[in-house]
Amino acid sequence: MIFADLQLMRPLMDAINAAGYKHPTPIQEAVIPPALRGKDVIGQAQTGTGKTAAFLIPFLNRWRPHKLKGPIGVVMTPTRELALQIANEAEKLAPSSQFRCVPVYGGTGMQRQLTGLTRGCDLVVGTPGRMLDHLQRGSMSLAQVRYAVLDEADRMLDIGFRDDIERILKRCPTERQTLLMSATVPDSIKRLVNRYMKDPVHLHM
Ligand code: AMP
Repeated sequence: MIFADLQLMRPLMDAINAAGYKHPTPIQEAVIPPALRGKDVIGQAQTGTGKTAAFLIPFLNRWRPHKLKGPIGVVMTPTRELALQIANEAEKLAPSSQFRCVPVYGGTGMQRQLTGLTRGCDLVVGTPGRMLDHLQRGSMSLAQVRYAVLDEADRMLDIGFRDDIERILKRCPTERQTLLMSATVPDSIKRLVNRYMKDPVHLHM
């Protein structure tokens, strides 16, 4: 399969070409088509498999210029390093220079994150603790979110982010698409799936 087979929007295809990606990786080949159709997806895959682009591409394909304050997409991930990597990938694949991604994570000052959020953004990528912090301060609203991703869900639960994740998902509209990426899918993850996802397709790599 080549990326052209996925019939993505032209500006996104241009960004994928500019990134030098020729063929979708197996997880991308599996996750992108059902996610493009609007399905909730569980993608069971390790890191280094291209899982980031697998969950970003369906969101970026739907992106159009808009006047909303946003964010319209939210990605929760276990660490600051991952948040920055995902934000980099989103910038790399962004279909327009108007597209804005704000990384939020703990252990660093609030000001830059506050400025990014106040200005308005399309995608927030961050650790659940700091995201909840922004929600509680009122510096971020999830009322316009249509696309939510739990990245490395098993690691987030190991760190103890379950309550934060649930609080965040409860603040997102139920009219949304939800993707969950995890190397393993133990019962603790299945409970999250049953509560917060709708009839998901489960793809193992
Ligand atoms: P990830 O598993 O998302 O951390 O991705 C691992 C690395 O693969 C990252 O450096 C990506 O930029 C790169 N990558 C993702 N998708 C592709 C692709 N289809 N072709 C080539 N490289 C890719």
